[in-house]
Formats: sequence, C-alpha cells, structure tokens
Amino acid sequence: MFFYKFPSGPFDTNAILIGCSETKKAAVIDPSLGSTDPILEKASEGGVSIEKILLTHSHWDHIADLHVLKNKTHAPIYVHPLDAQNVEHPGSDGIPLFFPIKSAVPDHFLQDGDVVEIGHLKLKVIHTPGHSPGAVCFYIESEKLLISGDTLFKGTIGNLQLPTAEPGKMRESLRRLSELPPDTHVVPGHGDDTTIGDENRFFQN
Ligand SMILES: [Zn+2]
Ligand SMILES: [Zn+2]
Repeated sequence: MFFYKFPSGPFDTNAILIGCSETKKAAVIDPSLGSTDPILEKASEGGVSIEKILLTHSHWDHIADLHVLKNKTHAPIYVHPLDAQNVEHPGSDGIPLFFPIKSAVPDHFLQDGDVVEIGHLKLKVIHTPGHSPGAVCFYIESEKLLISGDTLFKGTIGNLQLPTAEPGKMRESLRRLSELPPDTHVVPGHGDDTTIGDENRFFQN
C-alpha cells in the first residue's frame, strides 16, 4: 500500500492519496481545496493512476476540489446517498460556503458494508451518521487502517452543532468504531493521526 496525506484548504482538511503498490492503482479521498495539483504530482511521480474519488462526507471543505479533480482524472465519484445532494448542489446542506464551489455528479453510491477495491486493497465502508447523515469511514483491515473523516479525531469527535448533524446517531456510530482492534491506525479528516485504542474514552456509555 502507499498512502499520502495532503492537509489543504482553510481548515487543513486531509485529502488522501491511497493505493495498491503492486497494481499502481489509486484513489483520492476528500479532495479539499488546492489538493489536486500536489496529489496529481505525487501520482505521476509514482506512476500511479487515480481510478476512484471517494468521499467520507460532502461538507464543502471535503469537496472543494472535487470538480477540478474529476475534470482532470475522469475518475468516478463515490459518496453515500444521504450526502449526495451537497455534491450536486454545494451549499444545499445549510452550511455557508466560504467561496463558490462547482457542483459535481456522483457516479456511485456507497452503502454500509460495501467493499471498494483499489487494486488489491479492500476498503470496507462503515456508515457512521452523526456529523452528517451520509458520513462514512473506510476501513482497511489488512493495513489496520481507518480513514475516519469527521467522525473521529485525535482527542475529539465530529462537530454535532452543524445543520447536518444528527447527534442521536453518533453514539451508535462510535460504538461500531469501538469494535475495531485497538491498534487500528486512524487518519481523521483534520489534524493528526491517532488509534482506536487512544480514543476509547469516546466509546464509553
Ligand atoms: Zn465535516
Ligand atoms: Zn471537515
């Protein structure tokens, strides 16, 4: 596996380039503002092709470069159906945009339990509503890696004050993450990496 993080945009949203070293197939997760050029540069350095664009959720800071990346790679866009509307109509989720964001059309809908393949890598989709209705995490069991979007961070959990939030659903989402092995490495949508074990205080009660 190869894995690169590109904190980009006004909130340092972690765009991710992830892929399979053997097949040189890659996916981008959460193309935040300004992440496209460094991602494409890294991909071309490594001779890898970007075959999928995956979204942990559709808040604007995670999709700001989506139309740019889509136009340059023609890779299909994957999002959970409950977060799809804000991809097509950015700003329709009620969160004010910092700047205009062009719309994009999702190509595939992610569902809980789906397995997205990138070469030999398998990313299991865990639907984790709470921060937004269609929030998902991507779990790669073979690498002991969780890409948690804005559901779980180092030292905190996703903001539940936003118009998209469903606070009542967050507890069950966190409970599901708590079932992963404690040494699972977690890469959140913002900030530093952590592990499931280090955040277990958020899984109580
Ligand atoms: Zn968010
Ligand atoms: Zn975010």
